[in-house]
Amino acid sequence: MTADAKQRAKFAIAIHGGAGAITRGNLNAEREYRDTLASALRAGLDSLCGGATSVDAITQAIVVMEDSPLFNAGHGAVLNHEGNVELDAALMEGRERGAGAIAQATRTKNPILLARAVMESPTHVMLAGPGADDFAQASNLTTMPNSYFHTERRRRQLAQAIARGNSPLDHDRENSPLDHDRYGTVGAVAVDSHGNLAAGTSTGGITNKHYGRVGDSPIIGAGTYADNRSCAVSTTGQGEHFIRCVIAHVVAQRMLLLGEGVTRAAEHAINDELTTLGGRGGLIAIDVAGVIAMPFNTAGMYRGRADHTGRIEVDIFE
Ligand code: ASP
Repeated sequence: MTADAKQRAKFAIAIHGGAGAITRGNLNAEREYRDTLASALRAGLDSLCGGATSVDAITQAIVVMEDSPLFNAGHGAVLNHEGNVELDAALMEGRERGAGAIAQATRTKNPILLARAVMESPTHVMLAGPGADDFAQASNLTTMPNSYFHTERRRRQLAQAIARGNSPLDHDRENSPLDHDRYGTVGAVAVDSHGNLAAGTSTGGITNKHYGRVGDSPIIGAGTYADNRSCAVSTTGQGEHFIRCVIAHVVAQRMLLLGEGVTRAAEHAINDELTTLGGRGGLIAIDVAGVIAMPFNTAGMYRGRADHTGRIEVDIFE
C-alpha cells in the first residue's frame, strides 16, 4: 500500500449524544446510553468499512440515535411549551461544501434523512416548517403523526419546566432534579476512505421552548459544518450561544487561516469563544487524517469514537 493509500484508508467516526451536567450513579441508565452510542458507532463504522462515504456513515449513526427514545432527536425529542415536538437537523459534506438543513419539522420520522434529501436537491439548502415535512413526503421519506415522537418522560419534563418557568437544556442539572432523564441532541462527524469529511446534527431543541424557536443545530457554521480543507464539526449545548459564536465555523477557520490543529482549534472555540459568552456545551470535530477532538465545558458529554482499526470507545464523563 502506498503512503497515500494508507492515509486514505484511515477512516474514522465520532458521535455525541448531548453535553451537560450529567450525574453519575445510575448504572442502568449509563449502560443503556453506552450500548446505544456503541450501536450508533457500529452502524457508522460498518458502512465506512464497506467503503461507504462519510455522509452515509454519519447518516446511519444518527438514525440509530434518532430512533432511540434516549436522545433528544427524533422519537423521544423534547417538547415545546405547547407540548409539541419541533425538530431541527443539518448535514454537510466537506468536498464541495454541500449542505442541507431543516427546522421545525413536526412529522418527519428521521430529520437527518430529510436534511440529506435537502442537501441532495439541486435547489435548496434549508427548509422550515410544513414545507420541510412536505418535502420529506415528496422525497418518499417516512412521516409520522407528532405523537410518534412523544414519550412520557418528556411530558413529565415539560410539566416540570412549565411549573418552574424555565426552558432547561436537555441535560441541565441546575434546572432539573431529573438528571438521569436528561438526554441530548445527537451529532456525528466522519472521514471516509477517500479523505472526505461530513458532519450532521439532529435535535428537538430545548424543553419548553417557544414554538418556532430554532437552535444552532441546523444553522450551517453554528451547529454543523464540514470543509475538507479543515474539519467537520457538530455541536451540542445552549444553541443561542453557539449561533452567536458561529462556533463550528470558528473551528474550521482557525485551522484554515491560523494553521492550528483540530484539537487546539476546537479547544479554543469552547474554552475561549463559548465560555467567554457564558455558553455551555461541547463539540466533536475531526480532520482529514482522522484526528478527533471532543472538548466540552460541562460535567459530561455523551460521546464516542471508532476508526479503521475496529476500535470503538464510548465516554460520558470527563
Ligand atoms: N443545541 C441544541 C439547541 O439549542 C440543544 C442541545 O444541544 O441539546 O437546540
